[in-house]
Amino acid sequence: MNEYDSNRIYDLASTIGFNKTDVKKEADCFVLNTCHIREKATEKVYNEIGRVKKDFKNLKKPLVIVSGCVAQAESEEMIKREPYIDMIIGPQSYHKIRDSILDYERKKEKISETEFDVVGKFDELKKISNSHNKIFSYLTIQEGCDKFCHFCVVPYTRGPEYSRPFEQIIDEAQNLVSNGVKEIILLGQNVNAYNYNKKYTLSSLIRALSNIKNLKRIRFITSHPNDMTEDLIECYRDCKKLMPLLHLPIQSGSNKILKLMNRKHDQKYYMSVVEKLKKVNKDIKISSDFIVGYPGETERDFKDTIKLVKKIGFINSYSFIFSPRPGTLAASKKLNNLTENEKRLKKLQNILENFQNKNNKKYLQQNCEVLIENKLNNQKKYFGRTKHMTPVIFEADNCKIGELVNVKIISFNQKNLFGIYKTNKMKAA
Ligand code: SF4
Repeated sequence: MNEYDSNRIYDLASTIGFNKTDVKKEADCFVLNTCHIREKATEKVYNEIGRVKKDFKNLKKPLVIVSGCVAQAESEEMIKREPYIDMIIGPQSYHKIRDSILDYERKKEKISETEFDVVGKFDELKKISNSHNKIFSYLTIQEGCDKFCHFCVVPYTRGPEYSRPFEQIIDEAQNLVSNGVKEIILLGQNVNAYNYNKKYTLSSLIRALSNIKNLKRIRFITSHPNDMTEDLIECYRDCKKLMPLLHLPIQSGSNKILKLMNRKHDQKYYMSVVEKLKKVNKDIKISSDFIVGYPGETERDFKDTIKLVKKIGFINSYSFIFSPRPGTLAASKKLNNLTENEKRLKKLQNILENFQNKNNKKYLQQNCEVLIENKLNNQKKYFGRTKHMTPVIFEADNCKIGELVNVKIISFNQKNLFGIYKTNKMKAA
């Protein structure tokens, strides 16, 4: 979501004369768009500011803005601790960035904007067209979360669940497609909780977006298992543009730990969702997130996670050792033994890697559908992704960026597939 927000912050700033530069020392203004989910996120921001300070030691000081969830969580404290920062702007207030910059230039007074004005934000953003023109684009449809998992900061930094107006999203998608975008990834902290005016859900959005000519692929991220409704599951049967890879975090395979995390579902329920998905689309694959060593996790709980992983055979998954986030309920809990946690993480990651390898091996000598994202510099090679998001590097003489092509896979490693161009007639699986 930060990538989407950063692009929109740029769209806003460009209306008052700012342009992007790749030459750091040329910048008049730095916007550090931060994420609070990362470990030691706050310290990383101060370190980055330290680097900017060093680079500009003998130059005119740039305007330094910290935006995003760290700005929201730390607020004015950041300006007090690091006076080099001129402005703090939260993720639900960044539409005010233009007025704030102009105000700062007039008065030279530090600014802190951290209200949860999500409606105002999207009303303002809709007035400025999204300039993103790469092959795939993120598109925020929902923000915030009401679920309050005990380890997570999102409900505190992004605020309560909010769904953008349906028409606003369709307009933005159409605009992106006219810029050349071929694949849209719908975003939300609880994207499948999208519900506008109790009339439009995520499934209605997917069905409407499927009608946009020249849009070739649709994905959405990140979903909560409890919001995987029947109508949404059916989209995996009916909507050919909806790609058959679903990121569905479970975090742990132990019911005890899921309860301690306040995930509000158990392992059996999660399995039932996966089974329903596989029933409507046998091509569907699931990726997930795992927290290892959550406070209270025993060897038996960890074994339950391993059991679940083996049962489902996840691909493209993320796994981390639990680390406390300030302000969350889990932050006050006694930490598990680190060495034990590290051992467990390694074991889990080995299993996940094996599944990834096995999955990639299945493509060998097969033709697969690839959406071309770019050409590798000075080589007759292209980069694209399969329907399941696996990166593919393939040889070809002359392909068009943004085209769907058939690639024959001839080798693989854990992360990538390698192949040769077959045809642009889509007969692939
Ligand atoms: S559902 Fe997701 S965003 Fe919401 S609190 Fe839980 S982990 Fe955080």
